[in-house]
Amino acid sequence: MAQAIPGKVCVSCGRLTHQYTEFKCPSCGKGLIIRCEHCREITNTYKCKECGFEGP
Ligand SMILES: [Zn+2]
Ligand SMILES: [Zn+2]
Repeated sequence: MAQAIPGKVCVSCGRLTHQYTEFKCPSCGKGLIIRCEHCREITNTYKCKECGFEGP
């Protein structure tokens, strides 16, 4: 049976990604930030769902 590898949606570009960095929001410490390799490379901004913090 084929197993689908669960990916995560990048908060910056909104794309499903398998290569990502996951970290807690540096502002509130509650929001989970998922950032794909691409956005990390081009230092795309992200936005926290919990507090609305935007940062690189
Ligand atoms: Zn991305
Ligand atoms: Zn936050």
